[in-house]
Amino acid sequence: HAKVAGRNGVTLFEAGMLAEAERKLTLERDFAAAMENGELSMYLQLQIDHLRMPVGAELLMRWQRPDGSFVPPDVFIPAAESSGLIYPLGQWVLRQACEYWLRLDRAGLAVPLSINVSPLQFRQPEFVEQVCAVLVETGAPASQLIFEVTEGLLVSDLNETIARMHELAQMGIRFSIDDFGTGYSNLAYLKKMPLYELKIDKSFIRDTPGDVNGTAIVQSILAMADHLGLRVVAEGVETDQQASFLAANRKPAMQGFLFSRPAPLEEFMTQMRSWRARAA
Ligand code: C2E
Ligand code: MG
Ligand code: MG
Ligand code: MG
Repeated sequence: HAKVAGRNGVTLFEAGMLAEAERKLTLERDFAAAMENGELSMYLQLQIDHLRMPVGAELLMRWQRPDGSFVPPDVFIPAAESSGLIYPLGQWVLRQACEYWLRLDRAGLAVPLSINVSPLQFRQPEFVEQVCAVLVETGAPASQLIFEVTEGLLVSDLNETIARMHELAQMGIRFSIDDFGTGYSNLAYLKKMPLYELKIDKSFIRDTPGDVNGTAIVQSILAMADHLGLRVVAEGVETDQQASFLAANRKPAMQGFLFSRPAPLEEFMTQMRSWRARAA
């Protein structure tokens, strides 16, 4: 690359890196402003069981710009992580989860709420203390919160991570491995961690029931989870065929556009009421 010199002796390679760094900085600055300006909110997406009864919900962050357009979390969460804003953000998500749960409870619609916890947030020395503080301040029960972590959390400080998980589990927090099967592949961690749940990544669910190998992978994950006594949520269920396949194979909980799109709290409550009425 270095030979392809552009104007002023700056190579195209360097210019590309510079543009990339500028894009990243702009995104980080925009995201900081979005936090200040209240452009962030939490949506909820329903999880249902094989009888189509609501059994939980995942909180998903949304960034809506003043012009109405949405910036996807897969774009802004990495920016929040590289800028350090993920720390206050993670705290805010935790508090929102507690407040949402209390509001759902008052409406007679309480279900356990899952939140996505960034590895950076989880590794903060004060994390356990912060979780404790939010629970005490809001009065929400720890037993109603599920922390979704990815296999990325397991690549370093494994012993410390496991110890911290046990501390939180002792308080009543439950743990889920998100996007299961797409990350770290050493399964030994499954027997050391206080896990409650696996979430099968939507890339695997997409392959069912048409693709033979994809289907075999999903069936194997379901069987393994059963043997380990773990609950399973199938993520990204979009078709009736996928739902029927899952209902015929160990009946995991399901989350996906087939049932409901992530929605703001009020709309989520309406979705819950209609699913409950239909299932009853
Ligand atoms: P995730 O935790 O795996 O969340 C599931 C993603 O699948 C969500 O994308 C959800 O909208 C999407 N989804 C649900 N059902 C379907 C379906 O039937 N088909 C398809 N194609 N997609 C479906 P979303 O909301 O864009 O979030 C993307 C990722 O951003 C999340 O993946 C999570 O890793 C991260 N994220 C979102 N909110 C937070 C947050 O509050 N904190 C942290 N640390 N990360 C978050
Ligand atoms: Mg998740
Ligand atoms: Mg996931
Ligand atoms: Mg994901």
